Amino acid sequence: MSEAPHSIYDVIIIGAGSVGTPAAFFLTKTGLKVLVLDPYASVGQGSNKRAIGGIRATHSDPAKIRLCLRSLELFSTWQVTYGEDIEWYKGGYCFVAYREKEEQTLKKLLAIQKTLGLNINWLDKNQLLEVVPDLHSDGLIGGTFSPDDGSISPLLAIHSFYNQAVKSGAQFNFDEPVTEIILSHGKISGVKTNKAVYSAGVMINAAGPWANQIGKLVGLDIPVFPESHEAAITESVARFLHPMIVDTRPIEGSTSYYFYQHLTGQVLFCITPNPPIPGFDTRETSSFLPAVARRMVEIMPRLKNVRVRRTWRGLYPMTPDGSPIVGWVDGIPGFLSAVGMCGQGLMLGPGIGELLTRLVRQELVADDQDTLSFLSPSRQFASEEMLK
Ligand SMILES: Cc1cc2nc3c(=O)[nH]c(=O)nc-3n(C[C@H](O)[C@H](O)[C@H](O)COP(=O)(O)OP(=O)(O)OC[C@H]3O[C@@H](n4cnc5c(N)ncnc54)[C@H](O)[C@@H]3O)c2cc1C
Repeated sequence: MSEAPHSIYDVIIIGAGSVGTPAAFFLTKTGLKVLVLDPYASVGQGSNKRAIGGIRATHSDPAKIRLCLRSLELFSTWQVTYGEDIEWYKGGYCFVAYREKEEQTLKKLLAIQKTLGLNINWLDKNQLLEVVPDLHSDGLIGGTFSPDDGSISPLLAIHSFYNQAVKSGAQFNFDEPVTEIILSHGKISGVKTNKAVYSAGVMINAAGPWANQIGKLVGLDIPVFPESHEAAITESVARFLHPMIVDTRPIEGSTSYYFYQHLTGQVLFCITPNPPIPGFDTRETSSFLPAVARRMVEIMPRLKNVRVRRTWRGLYPMTPDGSPIVGWVDGIPGFLSAVGMCGQGLMLGPGIGELLTRLVRQELVADDQDTLSFLSPSRQFASEEMLK
């Protein structure tokens, strides 16, 4: 390994995932010299490719709403702007209510969501059944519908961001984990990998579920911990469903589940296990499919005819309050945090990529300070997001 820094960059990004890859694109587009490092052989091999593809701005806090509104704008216009298909489908999101508790929570959130510019409305039972005719109607009260939300293919999207980033001049080094962070007089001055040493005054931690390990390299204990989540995909069938359906009623074994029909006809679905499953284990279980299938068929009996093709398991990079950790790290000039995306890194990625670019270039715009206050690395982590 060469010990002398053999290349000097403006920014080094740790992690070519849902956040690091769009960030490389936006930073490079402004003329900065960017290096992205990742232990895997290509982009998106961490949590990114495990995502099912849901993209929504329907959140409960202003930071996520703003960032995801911007991501939606970018994803929905991507093919027209860059000529690459990422399988964007504008089917919307539906949070359904079968109990007064969910009805009240969803209705309460509408006020803030509308104030921040979300196109979202409460639909009563009959209106909702017009949008989703196959929903089980017994006990259905209604739900929210946000028609501008949608879905993409995570891998097509990240590869397209990668293509565009490389075209703009970004350098991606694969099979190359960061093993050391180099400080000079307390400031970021570079990183060491298994192969070389690189210099930069700015380093972005975008290491997803591995963010805490990166922090440890400079003595930080970043509160990001991995949680295991399973998902599945069915065979492709004729279009029968447009929005993502989210049911947040907790029952034994799970708190919520969600499913949608992809542009290419397959139904994709996930469940939120309760209690959560901490750790890095990504081996599929035999309990996931029976548990989620029961819930899905209950809410949409027609689904019992669709055959499941494959299940998989991946990691959510969780934080104590369910919100990402984005911003400059106190006490280590040049260390920028972009971690803790929980179950929403795909939808947050492009919005956060642009925000990181404005941070690095010191070009923050009107709402950025407010957004950053919700995501601050030095916040108290006291509150909990309502639509995790
Ligand atoms: C089953 C499932 C379904 C999901 N569905 C959705 C969804 O519908 N919509 C949505 O928005 N999100 C979804 N998610 C969540 C989403 O996948 C994550 O939030 C997101 O991928 C996290 O992005 P990231 O960039 O922080 O991490 P990653 O995409 O994991 O990227 C981190 C990268 O850092 C790299 N890295 C690690 N250590 C080092 C090191 N030492 N040096 C250099 N690089 C390193 C890793 O190899 C990895 O490539 C889902 C997740 C799962 C598991």
